[in-house]
Amino acid sequence: MRTNDPFIPEIEKASKQEIKKFQERLLKENLLYLKNYSGFYSELFEKNKIDIAKINTIEDLRHIPVTTKDDIQKRNNDFICVDKNKILDYITTSGTLGDPVTFAMTDKDLTRLAYNEYISFVCADGSSNDVYQLMTTIDRRFMAGMAYFLGLRKLGAGIIRVGNGIPELQWDSIKRFSPTTLIAVPSFILKIIEYAESNGIDYRNSSLKKAVCIGEPLRNTDFSLNLLGSRIKEKWDLKLYSTYASTEMSTAFTDCSEGIGGHHHPELIITEFLNENNEPVREGEEGELTITTLGIEGTPLLRFKTGDICNYHSELCKCGRNTIRLGPIVGRKNQMIKYKGTTLYPPAIYDVLDNIPGIENYVVEVSTNKIGTDEILIRIGLIVPDINFEKKIKDNFRAKLRVTPEIVCLPISDIDKIQSPDINRKPKKFIDNRKNAHNE
Ligand SMILES: [Zn+2]
Repeated sequence: MRTNDPFIPEIEKASKQEIKKFQERLLKENLLYLKNYSGFYSELFEKNKIDIAKINTIEDLRHIPVTTKDDIQKRNNDFICVDKNKILDYITTSGTLGDPVTFAMTDKDLTRLAYNEYISFVCADGSSNDVYQLMTTIDRRFMAGMAYFLGLRKLGAGIIRVGNGIPELQWDSIKRFSPTTLIAVPSFILKIIEYAESNGIDYRNSSLKKAVCIGEPLRNTDFSLNLLGSRIKEKWDLKLYSTYASTEMSTAFTDCSEGIGGHHHPELIITEFLNENNEPVREGEEGELTITTLGIEGTPLLRFKTGDICNYHSELCKCGRNTIRLGPIVGRKNQMIKYKGTTLYPPAIYDVLDNIPGIENYVVEVSTNKIGTDEILIRIGLIVPDINFEKKIKDNFRAKLRVTPEIVCLPISDIDKIQSPDINRKPKKFIDNRKNAHNE
């Protein structure tokens, strides 16, 4: 091996069988840790008469009940396995019942998090020669920004912590420090392109070559770029990488240069893909990603149902990693919409709307109609009001999703008010008014 080959952990180059055996060994250690230190899981084992000595394989996990977001909300303190004096960083996520949920991180957990992002950035063709412009928040009790910082530091790359928003400051940093790579929400990349165009910035000839994209999928399930991905690519020939992660997982699934799904890191997490009855789906079928964290001290999770629906792929990747890959997240399980016989998730609707020029903002609302099925109403704010626009939008939906929801055009300010009735909360693009709605 040449010394300048990018770092790939040995286990990720091992055979599928070796990876499985390796994970099963780690699983045993983690089960023992949970039994000894987790109030929630020691009780769960006892109540369900689970003898952890008999859980030896990934398949055996099926004997253990799954953990849900509600469980973590209701029993938050019982999930934390360490004393307060071992906690270094407090992170919160929005809970299912309104109150935030705390994730406690120990020194060891931060080291693990740094390793996770380090190998993820290497996977996305990063090296110590790169300079990253970090366009995501690093404070406000979020995990992501800090995780990227720690990973980039371990990688030895340059980091510019601009944070989110403020296109002017983003361009100022790009001119000053010549970053090679953006870490950004992809729709915000469109915003900084817009800013560059209206301010005469020659963005195509800037120092930037790559973008690691978070929070929104760039690709369709066949890995072709979705509308958002192709709109960025048409304007600006950046190499795009998706990364998918969450606080609960403390682990990222990041594209390699092949762009065919986010690679699984078997030393950090066990993945299962389950149907509604918590049975494993077959490869190629959509399932809910269910995870068991490995090596976490503060707030480890066992069979946690993430709510994220995706496909997995196990054929070997050309990059040399033999781990499975996650396809783009098609949606949240509780946001699944059954509309006129088609199963839809809000991100597919956003992808259509985000890519019709002239739409400034929108709200997608789902409700239950008289016959008990889902109805979709999309309220749209137009830059230039136009009566013929509705038809154009409907044509777009028909072409892309094969169904046409009901559409109403309103002034942009009206949509703003619906999106943010409370200034302290994140603007909402999705409102679920269905009978069994489970709003997060
Ligand atoms: Zn790969």
